[in-house]
Amino acid sequence: MVPPENLFGAIPIWIGVYLLTALSFSGAGYILWRRVFRLVMIGKRPDRFSPPIKRLLPAASIVVAQLKVLQSVSIRDRGGLTHAFIFWGFLSFSASYGLFIWADSAWRPFSEKVLTERGVEAFGFYLDVLATIFFFVLVWVAVRRWVVKPNRLSFDLTQKKESGYILILIGLLMAFTLLTEGAYVASGGGGPHSTPPVGNAIGEVMIDAGIDGNLADGLQALFWWLHLGIILGFAMYIPLSKHMHLVGAPLNWYTRSLEPRGTLITPTDLETAEAFGASRVQDFTWRELLDGYACAVCGRCSDACPANITGKLLSPMHIVEGIKEHVLETGPGILNGQDEQEKTPLIGTWVQEEALWDCLTCGACMRECPVGVEHINSIVDMRRYLVMEQASMPETAMNALLSMEQRGHPWRGTTYSRTDWAEGLDIKILADHPDADVLFWVGCTGALEQRSQAVARSMASVLKRAGVNFAILGAEETCSGDPARRMGNEYLYQMLAMQNIETMNGYNVKKVVTICPHCFNNIKNEYPHLGGEYEVLHYTEFVAELIEQGKIKPVATVESSMAYHDSCYLGRHNDVYDPPRQVANAIPGLELVEMDRRRERGFCCGAGGGHMWIEENRGERVNHVRTDQFLETSADTIGVSCPYCLQMFEEGIGAKGLEGVKQAKDLLEILDESLT
Ligand code: SF4
Ligand code: SF4
Repeated sequence: MVPPENLFGAIPIWIGVYLLTALSFSGAGYILWRRVFRLVMIGKRPDRFSPPIKRLLPAASIVVAQLKVLQSVSIRDRGGLTHAFIFWGFLSFSASYGLFIWADSAWRPFSEKVLTERGVEAFGFYLDVLATIFFFVLVWVAVRRWVVKPNRLSFDLTQKKESGYILILIGLLMAFTLLTEGAYVASGGGGPHSTPPVGNAIGEVMIDAGIDGNLADGLQALFWWLHLGIILGFAMYIPLSKHMHLVGAPLNWYTRSLEPRGTLITPTDLETAEAFGASRVQDFTWRELLDGYACAVCGRCSDACPANITGKLLSPMHIVEGIKEHVLETGPGILNGQDEQEKTPLIGTWVQEEALWDCLTCGACMRECPVGVEHINSIVDMRRYLVMEQASMPETAMNALLSMEQRGHPWRGTTYSRTDWAEGLDIKILADHPDADVLFWVGCTGALEQRSQAVARSMASVLKRAGVNFAILGAEETCSGDPARRMGNEYLYQMLAMQNIETMNGYNVKKVVTICPHCFNNIKNEYPHLGGEYEVLHYTEFVAELIEQGKIKPVATVESSMAYHDSCYLGRHNDVYDPPRQVANAIPGLELVEMDRRRERGFCCGAGGGHMWIEENRGERVNHVRTDQFLETSADTIGVSCPYCLQMFEEGIGAKGLEGVKQAKDLLEILDESLT
């Protein structure tokens, strides 16, 4: 890219370049400050900056290598590839602007000093070809957005025009880049800058068209200034548009939560807090507020969301966008001392209450999001407000919460005690055997729900066969608090969790094994926030180890084919994908079948986020859709490693009229059969 010597012959180019650049960048900085940073800083301010090295390297690799957008590339949706191309092209052109415009203007020929003459030649050639390829990519992007239209882009109802402007701007930028090169060649320019093939070809056309040297000089200046104008204009447009994600995404990745995906923020000020949960700008953390600015409105989260897919109101993208719109609308007033959020409340105006209750906290949205948005924290924060400030929740949720508060478990109506399932099995109680090596955490469902009691019994049987020195808490165990927490009653959660932590710390518990992925996630990742630090394993991890060590050996053949369903809280939230498959593969005769949506892309069974107890009143039932996905396989059994999933699939199979033809089983039950 060759800049003209003077600004239309009068003003030295570097004055024009520096003056305009300074104006544009200060304008962009001012807009960034007014529209973004000062508003985001109204939020609470937890530290999300340290430790810097642990944050910086993964964040840089995600952004530079475009790892998250490329993970979404599929036969159905190749948008990630075009995004990565545009991003890398953007980096190349940014480097060229640094070298050939801003640096060269003052310290000519700076580019030759940095790159050597051959380097400049090669770089110029590369940019010329890149600008040409950009045209084809832009055409493809436009076709995808307006003609082919993958489902996820249909979520972006408001900003299609914006996408159109950006495509036109980039197209013009590339056109002026090539035309400047062409005019330079036509004006008789030579040297290393004249080698770009497309620029040369355009120059030849200009010469053939009779454009003389003087006219070509003028055209070169015109195209070059137009191209610089677009760059500087775009810099100011970024903070005003969804292209704010160019700034927001790297920041978001750097300030991401360093905890496993399903771990919620723990408010530690419940006793003194003036307000619970989040409904106003100042109730969210600054990081939750930044999410809206980082959002690229790509729709990937909503496209993967099981609630959205089954026709519920929830669209995670619109939750994030809604929070941002609310910040933009009310933030300036808050800063001026005129807080008008009562007039246009966030929940009810931008975010629908029903949508908040649709969330299964399955994490599919967060897994797909290319800019590191943490949807679940914001959704649960708003549920906390509804439950703890407004006492507003679905009736079914209220019943479960009441049961947890009054009886220490959510299974209203159960006639069992915490130890009925173990009757006749001679299982030790920790109070009588405090020297047990392992605490088997049974959980409310394993202990009190009839179908799941069979799984608890299988677990005890497997542990006994392996000779594990284990015990249970029995009547001393109370609900882990996980359902209360996901339903928004943080106060009740902390009360239950503290009670359990006190009990376990009293026995100096070191190792805990659970059968429920929800208890597993909660005790492993969230109890440490409240002083409960244990080695926590899900049974699939523990049993896979026992098999590997030869402590148990499945011998009896189980003639069955099993499709394994990844529980969200085991898989996506805690990356436990292989141990259940190792257990399945160790069982003679059992054929392991994989479902289309599996592992990181697994589809929720419909029970997460408290939905084991919340009725679905709109659209299809999530468990029926997942059951259909199972029925697409040839397997006769859907294998699970979670008591909630088990109930969901038993209901799903029954609803399809396939009882006796297909079955749902916990992996533990199949293993226990094979050990017998
Ligand atoms: S956590 Fe799951 S249900 Fe909730 S918004 Fe995300 S994808 Fe949807
Ligand atoms: S939150 Fe993430 S996945 Fe969802 S639309 Fe925004 S950028 Fe895309």
